[in-house]
Amino acid sequence: MGSNSFATTSRHIAVIGAGAAGLVAARELRRQTHTVVVFERSHSIGGTWIYTPDTESDQLGGVDRNCNILHGSLYDSLRTNLPRECMGFLDYPFVGIEDHRRFPHHKEVLRYLQAFGRDFGIEKLVRFGTEVVGVEMGFHDKWIVKTRCVDDVIVGKQDPLPPHVAASEVYDGVVICNGHYTEPRIAEIQGIMAWPGKQLHSHNYRVPKPFADQVMVLIGASASSFDISKELARFAKEVHIASRSEDPIGTPKKLSGYDNMWIHPMIERANEDGTILFQGGYSFRVDTIMHCTGYKYHFPFLKTDDIVTVEDNRVGSLYKHIFPPSLAPGLSFIGLPWKVIPFPMFELQSKWVAMILSGQVTLPSVEDMANDVNEFYEELESIGYPKRYTHNLAGQQFKYNDFLATQCGYTAIEEWRKGMYEATSKNRIVRPETYRDVWDDGCLVEKAQNDFNLWRI
Ligand code: FAD
Repeated sequence: MGSNSFATTSRHIAVIGAGAAGLVAARELRRQTHTVVVFERSHSIGGTWIYTPDTESDQLGGVDRNCNILHGSLYDSLRTNLPRECMGFLDYPFVGIEDHRRFPHHKEVLRYLQAFGRDFGIEKLVRFGTEVVGVEMGFHDKWIVKTRCVDDVIVGKQDPLPPHVAASEVYDGVVICNGHYTEPRIAEIQGIMAWPGKQLHSHNYRVPKPFADQVMVLIGASASSFDISKELARFAKEVHIASRSEDPIGTPKKLSGYDNMWIHPMIERANEDGTILFQGGYSFRVDTIMHCTGYKYHFPFLKTDDIVTVEDNRVGSLYKHIFPPSLAPGLSFIGLPWKVIPFPMFELQSKWVAMILSGQVTLPSVEDMANDVNEFYEELESIGYPKRYTHNLAGQQFKYNDFLATQCGYTAIEEWRKGMYEATSKNRIVRPETYRDVWDDGCLVEKAQNDFNLWRI
């Protein structure tokens, strides 16, 4: 593998999605002289960061495929969980536009992405209101992309049958940037069908008021449950968090600073009388269960004769979470890893893909890539990692980013950015209520500002 500064090949590339990943992928592809079409089924750029107060008619989200499926999963009050300095793209600092706080409101992220789209001329590459419904291999390493106009779809009732296909085009490559926070994962609960309470997934949570005076159980103890539970505690009668990490035979623990919030082991079963039994052997009556249980990777448009599969939330087999070896470099995925700083990683993944497509950088042989993936899977198995954590890069993201940067001859991730991510993670534990407004990493902010000033010159 290595750099080749001679011939540059321009290719015709389709990008699916105009969220943060699709935008930066389009920019990097253009920088490598490729021609780019970005397909976006909504009517504006920003993906996840386009907030809607609407929710789906199926509040568990997508279990009933005839419901109105919404892309976004943001709730109204959401502020970023990363400081803006480290969250932004590497060469396009996320400086204040209207909301100058370090952890701004979600609207500020959308403003930033819209500005990025404008400043790099990406908007004009996007075909809005166009959904990709088919991606399949054609002859001679080409890819066939089938699309339909979203306005053809009856609002509120997406057709689960093979859709009316409006257009079919041929590309040299397809970069998939369709996001992975739309298809909810639901916890399986014994007896749930006969349980008379309400259920929803956090994908459909927007504001706390509808839950006033209710007894709530939130399943899951990660980022969304962490934030939503605190907001709900101000309105709900009681908030109970059921966590896999709690001792299964444990008892409820009251959360400090709250007189109406507890953490529990997982749910054992739901009963017809409206009560919920916990693994600890106790039960009480509950009005609403909110599944804060994450999302599934979902590529309904992709037809690869099972070369790419999704099994227990592993998208396999992918070399470095990006390329299916035997379909590389024509098919690639940007943005699959999680527990990362997303935007800078998207940028480095995109640089690599764009440079490989142009011939500036070469990939290992198909066999070597396949061996690398197998070794990686064996390593995960040997440490007892379940398949569903394949793309969880906790503790590994900077090594991964630095690998990508090296491949592209780009500078490694800044030390202040790495330090800021670690400092924020620690601060979130020390000051769970106030980490967005009180911090100790001021010296790193100064270093970031100094770097940003260089970009402005
Ligand atoms: P998306 O933003 O989801 O964009 C995908 C795009 O693809 C969408 O516009 C969609 O309409 C389009 N699309 C999908 N399928 C098709 C199709 N078939 N045809 C055409 N178009 C299609 N990250 C942070 O850095 N900081 C945070 O504080 C943070 N908070 C978050 C909070 C929540 C609740 C969630 C859900 C995520 C959060 N994230 C955060 C992660 C966030 O998702 C990423 O930062 C990033 O925005 C994901 O970008 P993406 O482009 O991969 O996907």
